[in-house]
Amino acid sequence: MVPGDALRDDQRRGLAALFGDAVRFDEPLAPRTSMRVGGPAAALVNICDVGSLIALLDFCQSQGVVWTILGLGSNVLVHDEGFAGIVIRLGGSFTAIAITGTIMHAGGAAPIAAVCRQAAQYGLRGAEPLVGVPGTVGGAIRMNAGTNVEIGDLVRRVEVVSAGKDVRAVTLPEFSYRSSTLARDAVVCAADLELQRGDPVEVRRELRRRIQERNASQPLELPNSGSIFRNPAGDHAARLIESAGCKGWHCGGAEVSPKHANFIVNRGGATCADVLELIERVRAAVKRDSGIELETEVHVL
Ligand SMILES: Cc1cc2nc3c(=O)[nH]c(=O)nc-3n(C[C@H](O)[C@H](O)[C@H](O)COP(=O)(O)OP(=O)(O)OC[C@H]3O[C@@H](n4cnc5c(N)ncnc54)[C@H](O)[C@@H]3O)c2cc1C
Repeated sequence: MVPGDALRDDQRRGLAALFGDAVRFDEPLAPRTSMRVGGPAAALVNICDVGSLIALLDFCQSQGVVWTILGLGSNVLVHDEGFAGIVIRLGGSFTAIAITGTIMHAGGAAPIAAVCRQAAQYGLRGAEPLVGVPGTVGGAIRMNAGTNVEIGDLVRRVEVVSAGKDVRAVTLPEFSYRSSTLARDAVVCAADLELQRGDPVEVRRELRRRIQERNASQPLELPNSGSIFRNPAGDHAARLIESAGCKGWHCGGAEVSPKHANFIVNRGGATCADVLELIERVRAAVKRDSGIELETEVHVL
């Protein structure tokens, strides 16, 4: 989220004049997040090309309006009051994927699922550890998403647009566990991922194996945000939460999954406040039990 003020009425009019049908006011965000909680955005703008993205960021900066970018919402929680500024969603040209040799050029809004599918189709290996991450390339780069291999291990070049800059710039952020040095006001438009030649049959087999593993270990039948807490150095948040006895704890419609302790699921009717309260109760219980203070992985809007 980039700091600024809430959206005023004159700014709503300005936004509508500039972006027409691409703008939706008071747009519910819960259906756009995997946890399915939270209130509306003052405005949500669908952006399909770099020129419009630059124009929108210029608008936000000149008007001092708070903004954020949402990918597939698989790592964010939206407050029940909603988001008082502008939420940017990328689509159109930002979902494109092109392959040259072993380099995949993927748009910032390309789903990781499509990255894995296309890699397999072209007989390229390397992206299999990302399969099942239900986000976009941009969200994955911001979070350095992955498993035993993270997207940062594959990224060779990132194209970004930043507020106040009138051109698309090329950068290569540094990556560490579930984070990157990508500037807070940078929007990932596209990235080059380096893959390797492989056997398409083997690649497909590995994708299937990893998906089956996830289906068996994660509560994918209910809305969730993936891992709620980061793993502390040398340990696993899920192990610590289970050992603190938190599995099955609930708060309103939110529950610590009995299947995977580092997942909170929305059993129906959960609010963001329920999820946040449960997060704090689990954090406190783990601290009491093990002395370790868990850090939240999920971003709160
Ligand atoms: C069932 C499940 C399983 C998961 N498994 C994994 C896993 O194995 N490994 C893992 O690391 N994560 C996992 N996650 C978490 C999540 O899928 C990843 O963090 C994912 O990369 C987030 O991508 P997104 O597009 O959904 O981003 P969002 O959740 O929409 O946003 C996340 C952050 O990225 C920023 N962002 C989004 N798009 C852009 C962009 N184009 N440019 C700049 N910033 C952007 C947002 O502002 C926000 O700060 C899982 C989540 C779920 C629900």
